[in-house]
Amino acid sequence: MKLTVLGCNGPYPEPGGACSGYLLENRTTRVLIDCGTGVLARLTAIMPPEKLDAVILSHLHYDHMSDMLPLIYKLQGTGKILPVYAPEGLQPVRALLESSYDVHNIDTLNVIGDLKLSVLPVRHPVPCRAVRVESQDSIFCYTGDTNTCDALQEFVSGCSLMLADGCFPVSLWAENKPHLSAYLAAEVAAQAGAKRLVVTHFTPGIDREVLLAEAQKCYPEVQIAYSGLTVEF
Ligand SMILES: [Zn+2]
Ligand SMILES: [Zn+2]
Repeated sequence: MKLTVLGCNGPYPEPGGACSGYLLENRTTRVLIDCGTGVLARLTAIMPPEKLDAVILSHLHYDHMSDMLPLIYKLQGTGKILPVYAPEGLQPVRALLESSYDVHNIDTLNVIGDLKLSVLPVRHPVPCRAVRVESQDSIFCYTGDTNTCDALQEFVSGCSLMLADGCFPVSLWAENKPHLSAYLAAEVAAQAGAKRLVVTHFTPGIDREVLLAEAQKCYPEVQIAYSGLTVEF
């Protein structure tokens, strides 16, 4: 599989940046995971959105779904009704999607093209799911937005690539915050035997070198996400 990071900011983009958006593809299937502010422009630079097989929204916070709205205009005239998988809840936001997409409960995710998928409820202020995607010879796991979550380590176990919310430096993380620290994300990856780790979801102005150094204490080969990063695995 191949992962392309389209955007890696949250909860709003830095100057010139974009919020969460990740293109995951293998030879036959292309899935967009999250579609936050600024993602549509970066996606259309790579491929026509009507060629996507589906969009998966880990949750309906705006930094993960806002570009689904102008995408409605981009798809007009193509005849494409894009399947979208999103958690139940946040009905006013969901209703915006239901007007123009074929919206499914993310908990029903099973197969898209030749990808096998499963989800895990994670710990965030609104319903949010981690996503596991299995292709012929590799496994991708995305944490979504989450703080520590008991079942996460088992859910991502043995994956080829883990893409993790590592929003906070250790100094700003707390048990009641909505995100992991980069350090804790790295700890999960190491204990789960993830073969590669990319940390993402960076607040504008945060020092990524600090996040990298802290994550490296647990997982030396960790990478920091940036728009345009591609990983083949
Ligand atoms: Zn977010
Ligand atoms: Zn969120």
